[in-house]
Amino acid sequence: MLTITGQSISSELAIGTIRFYRHIKNIIGDTVAEDSQAELIRYQSAYQTSMDQLEHLYHKTKLEISAAEADIFEMHRMLLADSRFHHAIEQAIIKQSKTAEYAVYSVGQDLWERFIAMEDPYLQARGADIQDVMNRLLYALSGKKASSFDHISEPFILMAQDLTPSETVQMRSPNLLGFVTHQGSPYSHAAILAKTMGVPALMHIDIDENWDGHLAIIDGEKQCLYIDPDEELLREYQTKQYSEQKKREELLALRDLPAVTQDGHKVKLYANANSLTDLSAAAENGAEGIGLFRSEFLYLNTYEYPDEEMQYEIYKKVLEQMKDKHVVIRTLDLGADKKSPYLTLEPEENPALGYRAIRICLSQPELFKVQLRALLRAAAHGKLHIMFPMIISLWEIQSIKELLETCKKELTEKGVPYGDPIIGIMIETPAAAMIADSLAKEVDFFSIGTNDLAQYTLALDRNNALLHTFYNPHHPALISMIEMTTQAAHRHNIPVCICGESGADLTLTKTFLTIGVDSISVAPGALLPLKKTIRETESNCPRNENQ
Ligand code: PEP
Ligand code: MG
Repeated sequence: MLTITGQSISSELAIGTIRFYRHIKNIIGDTVAEDSQAELIRYQSAYQTSMDQLEHLYHKTKLEISAAEADIFEMHRMLLADSRFHHAIEQAIIKQSKTAEYAVYSVGQDLWERFIAMEDPYLQARGADIQDVMNRLLYALSGKKASSFDHISEPFILMAQDLTPSETVQMRSPNLLGFVTHQGSPYSHAAILAKTMGVPALMHIDIDENWDGHLAIIDGEKQCLYIDPDEELLREYQTKQYSEQKKREELLALRDLPAVTQDGHKVKLYANANSLTDLSAAAENGAEGIGLFRSEFLYLNTYEYPDEEMQYEIYKKVLEQMKDKHVVIRTLDLGADKKSPYLTLEPEENPALGYRAIRICLSQPELFKVQLRALLRAAAHGKLHIMFPMIISLWEIQSIKELLETCKKELTEKGVPYGDPIIGIMIETPAAAMIADSLAKEVDFFSIGTNDLAQYTLALDRNNALLHTFYNPHHPALISMIEMTTQAAHRHNIPVCICGESGADLTLTKTFLTIGVDSISVAPGALLPLKKTIRETESNCPRNENQ
């Protein structure tokens, strides 16, 4: 048995088999090939290797596990043999001179997107099988074995050197128990995604590929990982897991009760969501709405920027699923660590201080207008709040408003119906906090993004794991900015939400309540512990007239 300590993002625990993930980005390499014939031969050989592997796995699993489990590999064989899939890859190599890897990746990714957009949950789930087949081909091309995807139908702990936000999004699966990585920081988007998925993540672990297939325990509270735990420890953790489950069930009794302090101060509790799947988790945990829907995560893996119709359908679905509840959709917040294949971003020396979020949108108005029109149209179906990230000045809001008016005009001219959304901004830069009074006159609400506000106030990169000990969400400068922002908002009668990770930090709850924030938005799994804390707290907060 091995015990290794790392850095954890939550106190949760997981027990399961390790599946090692090797980065696809390390496998893909060049996108254009000089010798298409040679690429075609490489692809055909990888195809045959993958077919042979699947046949072997089918027989092995049928013999050693069950016929039902073995059928998964038979289905993968059928997918791989599908002449349209096969033909599309060959055409991409021959006609578009793509490398075999890039042809497999782009065709597979395209098919995956079509499956996950399907209404039928069975067909939607087939998206994971397509990824599995695509990964198998990629590994075969690289000469490596795709061991981590052989038994994806079982619960697993995912181990990787590092995970980008887009890779983390792709890992979403009901079988995923937790993440273990070497790199990453608790405030990175990969960590935030893990929290929203409700699974533990342990970082800073010196990982070893030989642990693939071994049993492990993640103890988020002790921030450690046990590999091949002995029977005694395993039993101890199974009992602990059972009592954690009981505690969670007890918390469910609070689901429909208000988040009100001992002295009668009421706060609204919303959920942060990164996908449509998170909406059910939000409802199960009693969210009063969605306080932050990170729209960029919907399209992080797509090769083409989703058109207006596609975006409209998704935003409409969010509103319909949330019924009449409060919904805040944040516009594209790409750049820094969030990169999407459809938007080529030049390498930058300081990406966190660079071309990101609203800066990209205002520099590329045609791209931005696609999202704005989709959001305006969706606003006809519910109470939609649109929120803009990374604001630093008044002219940005004025430019956004002008673009919104242009979009409304375009829709009117085409006779397309649209609604009247509520407009707000994220306060996540010190500049915005300092001029909160002027900004408050222009918008309907504020939402404080403590992750970025901490990054920019404390001058430290939130993705740099080496700075973890310096990253202090309790820093007085930060608390002071939150207080200033809240007071400015209330002077202008607009509400303030906290939507960064600090919202789930129970040691800060009383501070936020005393400051008088109107709502807090956290990962769905953090809602009930937060509500319990609020209900046990004396806020000492003067009643807010906005409530
Ligand atoms: C934040 O910065 O606090 C925030 C909520 O946005 P994100 O984490 O997506 O940058
Ligand atoms: Mg942010």
